[in-house]
Amino acid sequence: MVDAESVVSTEETPLVKEKSAPAATKTQNQWGNMWCIGSLFGQPIVIGPDICTLVCTYSFTIIPCVLFLAFGVADDSGTWMWATSVTVVVFTILALLFATLSDPGVLRIGINCESSEADPEDGKAGDKRRKKRYCNMCKLYQPPGSQHCRACKCCISGFDHHCPWMGKCVGERNLCYFYWYLAMVVITPAFFMISSIFNTPSDSSNAVRLL
Ligand SMILES: [Zn+2]
Ligand SMILES: [Zn+2]
Repeated sequence: MVDAESVVSTEETPLVKEKSAPAATKTQNQWGNMWCIGSLFGQPIVIGPDICTLVCTYSFTIIPCVLFLAFGVADDSGTWMWATSVTVVVFTILALLFATLSDPGVLRIGINCESSEADPEDGKAGDKRRKKRYCNMCKLYQPPGSQHCRACKCCISGFDHHCPWMGKCVGERNLCYFYWYLAMVVITPAFFMISSIFNTPSDSSNAVRLL
């Protein structure tokens, strides 16, 4: 008898989990697999699911910038050199922050997409929704240009691609920041190399002074 009861209890456990699963999905589907950690000037601050590669991107960007300011600028450099160096570094870090922390264009029901229910009439001739695809995972209609990202587990408006280095998707709302960061990835190392050639530090005392 004891064995029979234990068999029944182990069979009931999955049923309980199946009933609670839709509620959990419903609460987290606004941002999918991403995290909204706050807002700044009314804009959500969103971090993507690829945290490890995101940390690598921050390291590859910020560490060279700090090292350049510490060791790459000569102590006797003119004010223009320091101003230009600091400006390039600040613009690079700002581009990184905007590209990695901004909302890529996550479609959220009731905020920037229209319906959460599949329309049984969808597909009929003359139906305006024919051009829109229905996402069964997010339970919403995708505007043209949108696509569901399996990594982020949400639909992205103006989907461009999923970028692990940005930690999330690149879409309609962070595409310009992504291009800004790409431009700085080219400009900043070029500036570092050129300025290092023409402004060789006379000694290492400036590094000690900065630190
Ligand atoms: Zn979706
Ligand atoms: Zn994605």
